[in-house]
Order: sequence, then C-alpha cells, then structure tokens
Amino acid sequence: MSVHPAIVLTGKGPAERVDLTDADLPDGEVTIDVRYSSLNYKDGLAVSGRGKIARSLPMTCGIDLAGTVSASADPAFAPGQEVLVTGWGLSETRPGGYTTRQRVPSRMVTAKPSGMTLRQTMAVGTAGLTAMLCVLALEDAGLRPDGGEVLVTGAGGGVGGVAVLLLSGLGYRVAASTGRPELHDYLRGLGATTLVDRADLATAGRPLDKERWAGAIDGVGGQTLATVLAQTGYGGSVAACGLVGGNDLPATVLPFILRGVSLLGIDSVRCPADRRDRAWHRLGADLPLSRLDSLTTVEPLSDIHALADRILAGRTLGRVVIDVHA
Ligand code: NDP
Repeated sequence: MSVHPAIVLTGKGPAERVDLTDADLPDGEVTIDVRYSSLNYKDGLAVSGRGKIARSLPMTCGIDLAGTVSASADPAFAPGQEVLVTGWGLSETRPGGYTTRQRVPSRMVTAKPSGMTLRQTMAVGTAGLTAMLCVLALEDAGLRPDGGEVLVTGAGGGVGGVAVLLLSGLGYRVAASTGRPELHDYLRGLGATTLVDRADLATAGRPLDKERWAGAIDGVGGQTLATVLAQTGYGGSVAACGLVGGNDLPATVLPFILRGVSLLGIDSVRCPADRRDRAWHRLGADLPLSRLDSLTTVEPLSDIHALADRILAGRTLGRVVIDVHA
C-alpha cells in the first residue's frame, strides 16, 4: 500500500505532517500524482492555523496542484497526461495539493498549457491566474497599452510579480509599489519603469487626488486601495483582488461619480471554467516564460511551516513553487 505524505489541518493550530493512503482520497473522477504545488498568502493562513480557511477537518492544505493523471473515469483526461488544478476550494472545501496524490472532480482539472512545464504552471498558480484575471478585467473595461501608466501594488509578492511581468510584456507602462526598496532592481527587471513607496499609498489623502493611473491591480486593500481609487484617472479601472493591508475600504464615492472610475472585483476560486480557460490560454500566450523563472523559487514541502510564516510576514519574493516530494 503506497503512502502519500501530506500537510493536514487536524484541529486548531498549525497543520501537521500526516501519512495518507489511497483509502483516504476523496471522491472525484481524476486521480493525480502531484509533482508540485505552490505557496499563496491563503496557504500561509491555512498552514499556520492563523486564518480559518478549511471549512471541515481533517483538511489537506495547498490551494494549487500540478502533476500527472494516474487514473481517470472521465475520457477527457488520460493516464500520463499532465494537468493542474488551482483554487476550486482546494484546502477549503476539498483536500488540496500539499501531498503526493490527490483526487478531484474532472470539472476542476485544467490540461497543462502547451509550452509550459509543470513547474512553471505552479510558478503561475493561483496568484498568477489571479494576476491574469485582473488583466482580463481591466482589458474588458477598456484599458489599452497606450492609455497611460498602470499601477501594481504588493509588487514584491506573487500576484504583484506576475502582474508586473504580464503588463510589461503586453506593452503597458508599469508602476510597481513595494515596501521593500531592496526589490527595486528586481522589479525593474520584471519591467516596472516607475517605483512607488507603499507608504505613500498607505496614508489617507484627498478623496480626489492627482490623476496618475490609467488602471491598477491591487492586492493590498484598505487605505492603499482607497488611495489608488483617488489617484485613478478619468474612466480608469482598478482590479481589487487582495487584502494583505486590510479588508476595509475607507474611500468616498467621488472617484466613481466624478471620474467614472470602476472598481472591478476579482475572484479566482469560483471563477467559471470558460473564463479560467481563457486566462490560462492568455497566460500561455502572453506570459514571458523565460522571465518567469526570475520571480520563482522552488522550496521543499518539508519547510512549509517556515514558508507560511514568511509569506504572512510579507517576506517572500515573487512566486514560491512547492516540491511535494522534498
Ligand atoms: P504575497 O504575500 O506573495 O504578496 C503580498 C505582497 O503585498 C507582499 O509581498 C508585500 O509586497 C505586500 N504587503 C504585505 N503586507 C503588506 C501590508 N501590510 N501593507 C501593504 N503591502 C503589504 O501574497 P499573494 O501575492 O499570494 O496574494 C496577495 C493578495 O491577493 C492576498 O491578500 C491574497 O489573499 C490575495 N489573493 C486573492 C485571490 C483572489 O482570488 N481574489 C487569489 C490570490 C491571492 P511588497 O513587500 O513589495 O510591498
């Protein structure tokens, strides 16, 4: 009987390393031999026990996974095929990717985009998918590369790093906001041309400030999002996807009613399959893969508790891929 080491929440407090067997796998059409997962802010909350992410216990952590189909009751997927799953409630309502074998319903499975390795799909992961969903939403709202500068907040993190890389690759002028001046060269390397101190966005200003941004991708929330809205130019849009700086929004309606600014909410977890497929297709086509490695590190699952603490403290850089066999 093969054993699958897993990082599992069993009660209050941090997740524990537990050995699972095939008998522990949940229902689903597709069984996947997991090769990589990734580290997202939500994984930090789950693994450390500091955020209530799991809706039931025990729960295997890891909101993403990528690997090879070992068995499939759905002819859409064949044994040996490389696939990935991001979001869909993994580690919340269903066991997730911090293990070496998992089973999921086939509707959750995405075929690996051609041209990407399994490791690269997890370098993208939920954070990168979210960055792409933000870009799609901004484009759908009318943003174009010649429209002006686009701001990305939390640029040193996972969503932010992929967003800077994507936007610069698409020809946008990108401003990156970070609280870590030591990341300026790294962010310029991803394509940012303006660097903004995150403290400048974190203090309350006027309800309508100087119009600086044609659009923005915000993973911070709180006062930062309010400031970004106040600095967004006429007809511009802000894609809001995160809350590392707070889940409040101390804003006024003035940017909406005097400048026609739009606030676009982004969710990657319940995102419908057609939009998800569109996003992965665009990631395969538009993400400069040769530069994705510059924002990616690969870390062992055995270090997951230290990694969870680091991402919650805002001290990880770019995307962290998790090698579930190490
Ligand atoms: P990361 O921790 O990788 O990145 C967050 C970055 O935000 C940090 O690197 C840091 O960047 C900055 N930051 C951290 N703390 C603060 C703070 N107190 N105030 C201002 N900036 C701060 O996280 P992810 O990129 O994985 O996720 C970012 C956010 O997006 C999270 O809130 C996450 O929950 C959310 N998210 C939402 C999704 C959705 O579907 N809506 C999907 C994925 C993520 P720097 O040092 O450069 O300032």
